[in-house]
Amino acid sequence: MADQFDYPARVAAAQALMADRDIDALLLSVGSDLPYLAGYTAMVNERLTMLVLPAAGQGILLVPELEAPRIVVNNTFAVRAWAETDDPVGIVAELMGGASTAAIGDQTWSRFLLRLQTLSAGTQFVQAGHLMAALRLVKEPGEIALLRAAAEAVDRVVPRLGALEFAGRTEIDLSREVRRMTVEEGSDFATFAIVASGPNAASPHHEPAGRVIAEGDSVVVDFGGTVGGYCSDTTRTFHVGEPTDEFVDAYSVLHQAQEAGVAAAAPGVPAQEVDRVTRSVIEQAGYGEFFIHRTGHGIGLDGHEDPYIVEGNTDLLRPGMAFSVEPGIYVPGRFGMRIEDIVVATDDGSARLNLSDRSLHMVQ
Ligand code: ZN
Ligand code: ZN
Ligand code: ZN
Repeated sequence: MADQFDYPARVAAAQALMADRDIDALLLSVGSDLPYLAGYTAMVNERLTMLVLPAAGQGILLVPELEAPRIVVNNTFAVRAWAETDDPVGIVAELMGGASTAAIGDQTWSRFLLRLQTLSAGTQFVQAGHLMAALRLVKEPGEIALLRAAAEAVDRVVPRLGALEFAGRTEIDLSREVRRMTVEEGSDFATFAIVASGPNAASPHHEPAGRVIAEGDSVVVDFGGTVGGYCSDTTRTFHVGEPTDEFVDAYSVLHQAQEAGVAAAAPGVPAQEVDRVTRSVIEQAGYGEFFIHRTGHGIGLDGHEDPYIVEGNTDLLRPGMAFSVEPGIYVPGRFGMRIEDIVVATDDGSARLNLSDRSLHMVQ
């Protein structure tokens, strides 16, 4: 986690929202909300790490004693280490001091929450996700810089992929190579690499496996990594050998839909409008039934977060929001295609972070 961020300012913003919403305690454990506020990521295991933040005053970060040494001391929180024989859930109940409403991180394990509810019978627990999403929704310039660096790293992979021979390789083999190149090109980690070929390309979240890629396949490659904790996520579609006229026609519709979606994304526009725009281009061309997912999702410390670009989300886009525009066309049993870029809403429109060639990539 980069330490260029103003964590005390983020905590102050969280506390202001808590006061606004009558939340007496904010409890954050595993997931991205804690690193967003504290610059510290809880290990995902059976030893409880939890920030207990009151609506006013200093928060306490409760950590297992053996993990305390990796905390970089700052002035944002007091640290309290618990020993192996302590009862960390009991300590959290004590630190909450009879809060009447506590907001708890959405991904907190039930083994902790259920016991905490028993120990704090007078407390009403609500999801912290709504409150934290409101803080994380609009990215700071430093966050956008990391999203851009992450996008540039995966963009550099695309031309390298286009130079590879696809035919004869398995999806899983190509997926491993995509992950390797994602790191080589500057990502700290590769987080996923979907390689979906032939009929598998009609499954948007296909798990790459042993299918051997062959002449005539379309191949959807959707991959990402992280830089400084911030995620990348891009999709390009490849074709092994000559595509059919039908495929070329569908791809040009998809390309137009993605362009139209990016062009529609601007401050003051409801998130669902971007979905309506991409969908209407695809529907008008007769492929509507084959576009089986929302147009996009927000991105930041999490690969999927608010704002969701989906029918029903009437929230207005604001400058600094980062999200994907990723329409697809999936014809079951035959082929699939998707184009995905991350875009950031600007003062007067939007800017793509992914700039690699989004035309159909012909490969051998
Ligand atoms: Zn996806
Ligand atoms: Zn993706
Ligand atoms: Zn995506």
